Amino acid sequence: MCIGCGICVDKCPVQALTLKKGAGEGRRGAVIWDETKCIQCDNCIRVCPYSASPKIRYMEASEVFEQVSKNIPFIRGITVSGGECTLYPEFLTELFELVKTKGLTCYIDSNGCTDFSRYPELMKYCDKVMLDVKAWDKEVFYRLTQGENDIVKKNLVYLAEEHKLEEVRIVCLEPEVDVEATIRGIAENVEKYLNQFTLKLIAFRNHGVSTKLKDRETPSYEKMREWERIAGLCGFSNIRIV
Ligand code: SF4
Ligand code: SF4
Repeated sequence: MCIGCGICVDKCPVQALTLKKGAGEGRRGAVIWDETKCIQCDNCIRVCPYSASPKIRYMEASEVFEQVSKNIPFIRGITVSGGECTLYPEFLTELFELVKTKGLTCYIDSNGCTDFSRYPELMKYCDKVMLDVKAWDKEVFYRLTQGENDIVKKNLVYLAEEHKLEEVRIVCLEPEVDVEATIRGIAENVEKYLNQFTLKLIAFRNHGVSTKLKDRETPSYEKMREWERIAGLCGFSNIRIV
């Protein structure tokens, strides 16, 4: 999330960024992005020391709904993703309420960091959730995200019990991710619901990765099939490898 430090502003080759000093709640300033000038070179994202992007636009839920409405003849529903969309639960509730008036479905793509059970109004309008489970072991999860996975685990159980799980995803890369432990942990915690959602095993790919994982190879097809086999033995009936 942008803190308005302004470091990226001079790095833009087409002056699409300007810094408004002192603006922005609790921030050093606000970076204004001129979408019409932007050539999408992503220099600003590469130089940002906070892993943020200045390429943001503030919109009301009604403005997003207006964009959605233009596409109604071609879609059955919407999926909100991120970043992490559940950081804005009130916004999502407002948007979903509007979208539901058109009879469309509302899905959430989430890393599970927000406690869904605290937002019953949002869950009333949300049809299904695609949930990332990045790791099962607390320490492995912390190494990957610098966060705690208690909420993710709580969400997994809550969403399964509410029949709101569409898909659970694991990005497969050893040894960084405890893939087998994650498969087993999910299976044990939502044992009764394993036939109600898809387990998606995503082979890590280094496209666009700029961290220390940028040179890591994709797990072999045989390895992915091995994890698929383990998942099958754990009771998952809908498993996809991608
Ligand atoms: S995007 Fe990053 S570099 Fe640019 S102002 Fe925000 S925090 Fe600073
Ligand atoms: S992506 Fe756009 S805003 Fe960012 S540096 Fe490139 S031209 Fe400028």
